[in-house]
Amino acid sequence: MHDDHDHPHDHDHHHGHDHDPHAPASDDPPAPRDSRILEQALRELLIEKGVVTAEMISRQIDNMDSRNPALGAHIIARAWVDPAFRAALVADPLHTIEKETGKTMFVSGMPELSVVENGPGLHNVVVCTLCSCYPRMLLGIPPAWYKAPEYRSRVVREPRAVLAEFGLTLDAGTEVRVHDSTADMRYLVLPMRPAGTEGWDLPALEAIVSRDCMIGTAVPEVPVGA
Ligand code: FE
Repeated sequence: MHDDHDHPHDHDHHHGHDHDPHAPASDDPPAPRDSRILEQALRELLIEKGVVTAEMISRQIDNMDSRNPALGAHIIARAWVDPAFRAALVADPLHTIEKETGKTMFVSGMPELSVVENGPGLHNVVVCTLCSCYPRMLLGIPPAWYKAPEYRSRVVREPRAVLAEFGLTLDAGTEVRVHDSTADMRYLVLPMRPAGTEGWDLPALEAIVSRDCMIGTAVPEVPVGA
């Protein structure tokens, strides 16, 4: 019942899932009405056949709603303050996140997660070139631009130019690694803790880790005057 589509990456791109009417023009056909009717029919059938109950569905919807960037920001802030946690996170991301958050990270068919660490001279950015694969089990629903054909194609060809358009200008000497998500592997960027945050508590650190920092289109910054 999860919202993630775990397709093999070998199909063409005319699937209408995840359509967001506010998203930029995309090559996906606009079929929200059809998919809603299909979802309703399937849901009613599964309930009628006793495969799932209405309560199981609503519990799963609540569960998906509880996955959001704040959860990811907590994980990143913990990794910044606790080297042992950081090492565990990189070595075994899903178990470590599950233990920390109490949220199930293992559902049948769920992809693996890889935590990619930024460092001095190294910046990571995540994309799904084929559609919209994203670490939803942790961060929830991806932003509309992540699913747009423009981002998906351009960030691979000209990552520096795309990042500059997001307001992130990297030194010429910084290596940029672009990670292409698949049905089997999702990525979470572990950004660098910015200078000037020494002694900050967890909530203060969490507050500077935005969703985009964990995709790699931004880096955490100390607010002016902080
Ligand atoms: Fe995808």
